[in-house]
Amino acid sequence: EAPPIDADFYAVEAKLSPEDRALQLRIRTFLETEIKPIVNKYWLHDEFPFEIIPKLAALNVCGYVYEGYGCAGGSSLMDGIIAAEFGRIDPSIATFLGVQSGLAMGSIYLCGSEEQKQEWLPKMQRLEKIGAFGLTEPEVGSATAGGLTTTCKKTEAGWVLNGQKKWIGNSTFSDMTIIWARDLEDGQVKGFIVRKENPGFAVEKIKGKMALRIVQNGLITLTDCLVPESDRLTGANSFRDTAKVLQMTRAGVAWMAVGCARGAYENALAYTLQRKQFGKPIASFQLIQNHLVEMLSNLTAMQTLAFRLSELQDEGKLKDEHASLAKVFCTLRTRDIVSRAREVMGGNGILLEYNVARFLADAEAIYSYEGTKEINSLIVGRSITGFSAFV
Ligand code: FAD
Repeated sequence: EAPPIDADFYAVEAKLSPEDRALQLRIRTFLETEIKPIVNKYWLHDEFPFEIIPKLAALNVCGYVYEGYGCAGGSSLMDGIIAAEFGRIDPSIATFLGVQSGLAMGSIYLCGSEEQKQEWLPKMQRLEKIGAFGLTEPEVGSATAGGLTTTCKKTEAGWVLNGQKKWIGNSTFSDMTIIWARDLEDGQVKGFIVRKENPGFAVEKIKGKMALRIVQNGLITLTDCLVPESDRLTGANSFRDTAKVLQMTRAGVAWMAVGCARGAYENALAYTLQRKQFGKPIASFQLIQNHLVEMLSNLTAMQTLAFRLSELQDEGKLKDEHASLAKVFCTLRTRDIVSRAREVMGGNGILLEYNVARFLADAEAIYSYEGTKEINSLIVGRSITGFSAFV
């Protein structure tokens, strides 16, 4: 009789309060019963399952860490655990929530005026309004800090935005997108709430992705797009303010990677226990066990690192370099874990129905978004050496 699969090898989750543990298990049950059975179909067809939005809203975890505006005011640690639970079942749905709850709501929570928070956060918490976050451009990905080419100019009628934004998750159907643009007057990066009905706003779906296929990414074109002063994020006055949002969401991506790796590991271990070759379960072979132990070692290191990262966040001590190091380490190790998970499953490892192939593909996008390995490494490198090596 094989022992039960327990990927929480060092019992890290035992440190959660009974209430948090109950919430985690409620989310896990929901994801296993409502989301897991449908994701492969949507992933294959490159479509988003809109019918799950009210069910996600009922979980009441959107905007989990924010105080007020209908949000739970919970801990960053629990927010991370939630991201991992979503990642464990499907990194695309985890990303949808990460964009809504972290990037879009986070921009308003950290940089918005009181009126903007009142208008958007309660409805976004209930997923009645969907948000997106537009920073990356077709020609500017890693270099957004100094290189944004999307411009904004103040006129008597309001702000006029011009430029393009690429890869913007949720933007094909979102009610609004936070657009980051450089002010032609003072050269600083400013943030805007751009509503889908704003004149001059157009979005086209990016097709042909081989990762995170459920997430709908858009190419946004802003042509003399008019935005009223009341929709400018009053607390976003330079890229430093954008970076505050990214610090928080990079921690969330580290946790999402923990979940993605865990999902792949658990499915692979279960498979090796029941798959027989040469008359024995393949889990009984030394070379397979070596893969499983490598996977579990990395997963455990990621999980304990992410746990401490969130504790720092809850203590108010999180720095950019902490979030960047965790994002790099967890997404890099995830790539190794999902690849070994596929390997121990032989040919079935590339079939969607065995629930590892999707993680294998999705890990590639998680590895590159919210700052590549190189860019996050340079953030850590700058903090430990004092030298900025970006250019
Ligand atoms: P590039 O910047 O062109 O980089 C290419 C390579 O060069 C990388 O390996 C990079 O690390 C390396 N490189 C660049 N500069 C240096 C340097 N100085 N030193 C060493 N190496 C360097 N963006 C949004 O704004 N909103 C979203 O919702 C969003 N969602 C996304 C979803 C998906 C599925 C994907 C794939 C991307 C998403 N992005 C989003 C964009 C994402 O953040 C960028 O892809 C990422 O920042 C990298 O930019 P790039 O793809 O343009 O690569």
